[in-house]
Amino acid sequence: MPKLEIHQFPCLSDNFGVLIRDAEAGVVASIDAPDAKAVAAALATQGWRLTHILTTHHHGDHTGGNLALKGETRCTIFGPRAEAAKVPGIDTALGDGDAFKLGGHEVRVLDTPGHTAGHISYWIPSANVAFVGDTLFAIGCGRVIEGNHEMMWHSLQKLMGLPKETAIYCGHEYTQANARFALTIEPENEALQKRAKAVDQMRATGKATLPTTIGLELETNPFLRPDSPAIQKRLGMAGKPAWQIFGEIRERKNRS
Ligand code: ZN
Ligand code: FE
Repeated sequence: MPKLEIHQFPCLSDNFGVLIRDAEAGVVASIDAPDAKAVAAALATQGWRLTHILTTHHHGDHTGGNLALKGETRCTIFGPRAEAAKVPGIDTALGDGDAFKLGGHEVRVLDTPGHTAGHISYWIPSANVAFVGDTLFAIGCGRVIEGNHEMMWHSLQKLMGLPKETAIYCGHEYTQANARFALTIEPENEALQKRAKAVDQMRATGKATLPTTIGLELETNPFLRPDSPAIQKRLGMAGKPAWQIFGEIRERKNRS
């Protein structure tokens, strides 16, 4: 099995940059490009040469570095077909079910719309890792800006179906605030209580709380838990469709 090295670093106010490398193949990809200078600095630190950018969605805090990095490195930019016109420098447009080789690894593309209308996620089964942009966060999920609740719930369900041990890299460090909100939705969830404490400790020492895993999110992320009887009872929505319960939690988070 070819190795995949992963280097995550904070950038902008609360974004993550992520670089992945298949050393044997000489391939280095940046997951999104929040900030050209920060990505270039991370590349220099690692001693890596950029060959690809994998764009999850068109927002400026995910594509702002595309053109400068492409100018410096002549890298190839992949991105979502449904919003290709809004992704600077895009070379290859991708959509659900597409797969491509990145060095020795197959990358599978999942449509995960809702935060934006064309948002995609990248899953690399051979490395047990997925890059989900602003769709799923640790103990949270992205704001539903261009889609609707039903659409976002459908996207989250796709990610929930990945193997539990899949490492999940997200676009932002929002975990501590997410945990505080989650405890108002499911305060009796002991796994969540425990995780919230661990997150406080990590943040107090300046550590990143990402990556997470699908398994951990299924246990502690209220947005993925509309089936929880405790949540249904608290929201007064017992027996309602999962996407509506998800939508109510999302609305409450927007107001929090
Ligand atoms: Zn975004
Ligand atoms: Fe973002």
